[in-house]
Amino acid sequence: MLYTVSGVQILAILNAFDELETKLPGGKQRIGQYIAKLQDAESGTFAGDEWGETDTRFLYGAFNALSLLGLMHLIDVERAVDYVNGCKNFDGGYGTSPGAETHAGQIFTCVGALSIAGRLDLVDIDRVGAWLSERQLPNGGLNGRPEKLEDVCYSTLPCIVTSRYNVDILKDSEKGGIADRAGDMVDVFHTVFGVAGLSLIEYAGLEVVDPV
Ligand SMILES: [Zn+2]
Repeated sequence: MLYTVSGVQILAILNAFDELETKLPGGKQRIGQYIAKLQDAESGTFAGDEWGETDTRFLYGAFNALSLLGLMHLIDVERAVDYVNGCKNFDGGYGTSPGAETHAGQIFTCVGALSIAGRLDLVDIDRVGAWLSERQLPNGGLNGRPEKLEDVCYSTLPCIVTSRYNVDILKDSEKGGIADRAGDMVDVFHTVFGVAGLSLIEYAGLEVVDPV
């Protein structure tokens, strides 16, 4: 699922769905059907591959790719939305499955999925916003769960709650990229999330990114 979503996103960025159809007739439909087959008919959630591990990450991935492909009708959206709603915890956050601990990553994927489905009315914005605000540490960084270290890949959280955080800690001017936290090795993954986070807090000179 994850690589399929990345592939679909790259095709969308390159505006290359027509080229895909030329080179592989029916390609869009085949991708959509592959994703649709990963939905569990009973619960409505999605597996990451044929081995069957389920996680709200995969559900969001399915929504993301299928909405880019214009193929949301291939899945049971209502059942999937019910599943996401069932993952909501007392703190307003979401986990990987019903009853699972709230995690900032799963808040991102569940709120993203509900946004794609047009069901943000199900989100307890004040409660989840308060929980996300508490993810900010004294050094300005954000963690994904209580008592964890800060990590730049959680910097996309300000899409839900406008948060003041220390922009300088995100930038490693020597290496040119962004690491998970100050002093660590920079990599492409954290550079993407760091730049996206900077865009969401309207850092000067960056294009506006769609948080979904
Ligand atoms: Zn990270």
